[in-house]
Amino acid sequence: MEDVVDKKWGFEGNKELSSASVSVRGVLNKLVENIDVNNPHDQRPVITLARTDPSVFPCFRTTSSAVDAVADAVRSFQFNGYPPTVGVASAKKAISEHLSRDLSYKLSPEDVYLTVGCTQAIEIITSVLARPGANILLPRPGYPQYEARAAFDHLEVRHFDLLPGKAWEVDLDSIEQLADDNTVAMVIINPGNPCGNVFTRQHLEKVAETARKLGIFVISDEVYGGQAFGKNPFVPMGEFGSVVPVITLGSLSKQWVVPGWRLGWIVTCDPNGVLKTSGFLDCLKSYLDVTSDPPTFLQGALPQIFEKTRGEFFSKILDTLREAASVCYGKVEEIPCLTCPHKPEGAMTVMVKLNLSLLEGISDDMDFCLKLAKEEAVTVLPGFVVGLKNWLRITFAIDPSSLDDALRRIKAFNLRHAKKLIKD
Ligand SMILES: *Cc1c(COP(=O)(O)O)cnc(C)c1O
Repeated sequence: MEDVVDKKWGFEGNKELSSASVSVRGVLNKLVENIDVNNPHDQRPVITLARTDPSVFPCFRTTSSAVDAVADAVRSFQFNGYPPTVGVASAKKAISEHLSRDLSYKLSPEDVYLTVGCTQAIEIITSVLARPGANILLPRPGYPQYEARAAFDHLEVRHFDLLPGKAWEVDLDSIEQLADDNTVAMVIINPGNPCGNVFTRQHLEKVAETARKLGIFVISDEVYGGQAFGKNPFVPMGEFGSVVPVITLGSLSKQWVVPGWRLGWIVTCDPNGVLKTSGFLDCLKSYLDVTSDPPTFLQGALPQIFEKTRGEFFSKILDTLREAASVCYGKVEEIPCLTCPHKPEGAMTVMVKLNLSLLEGISDDMDFCLKLAKEEAVTVLPGFVVGLKNWLRITFAIDPSSLDDALRRIKAFNLRHAKKLIKD
């Protein structure tokens, strides 16, 4: 018989994986590979501003009451079995009550579906919406997971711009031009990743009216829900659920700073029941029947997590983020090749524009980030990954002294690569 290694296996694989290959993690790996770890002259710690996971820093540590809730759920022996596909009943109830506090109507437990983090919520939603020929409107800059999943599901993507000069508001005029009869939904992320903006109530209302006019659902990614520390308070999009059906996505990851726990949700904010009559809910439930579920004990812990987490935990995180955002904004202003059009007022990241004409020998945002990683052991996400070439996305959710250190290194990098002025 032919030897197994001699046989031609002819593996082609799923083509959508290559078109979906621009991912935060993929680019981050390239940057990390470029860090010169063996350089004896550089003993400085590596600082990453490219990734949003502050859980490693003591100032962002989660509350011990959440940890106790998980331990209690495990010890209870009540959550060792498979969960129902739509989620554990007590968890659904807890989420509906938690989110109803900020709404002028009450959500019901049946409006809630548990997911493996917000990432799986995105996966599920794009798959459910992807009928042949359909398209979805996504923000630019945005969160690349949406593009990746849409490509996977053969769901056409059309981008609308967020406007840097208008506090990163949605370019509503362009939405009307982009949409057609095959447009199924638009996505907003509020508070915003990557821009760190928070939409006003008035703007959200306009978004709802535009979507209603076009007959499309609004998917509202509120994974940073409540994390607004500037002048605009966080308003959930669900508040406009009677104007247009809203599907809210969220998770524990960012608000409780436990991205490793992988617990998220999909919530339908639709007091008129449009999603039910349109057949969307049946489709969603069928999909949930064939996907994996978040661990049962984490779902079981949710009621106690919500009940026992004190307001001080959130206000301390908000204070830390506010200070970090302010340090970040201030230091960026001192770096000649960077400009920040809008001071961050929510979430954990900010977009800054790169002025390449002030630099010598740097071709684009990726080149900037690769050289920065090599020379300064600092990683920053090149903007093309989130849809804006020659911008950078900086995560400011790290401990303040490391943030300060990283921005000093970026400044030193800029000065070293600054274009020399030619005097005549
Ligand atoms: C982090 C993030 C997610 C993913 O959240 P998980 O709960 O960790 O899966 C989704 N959307 C946005 C905008 C995010 O920043």
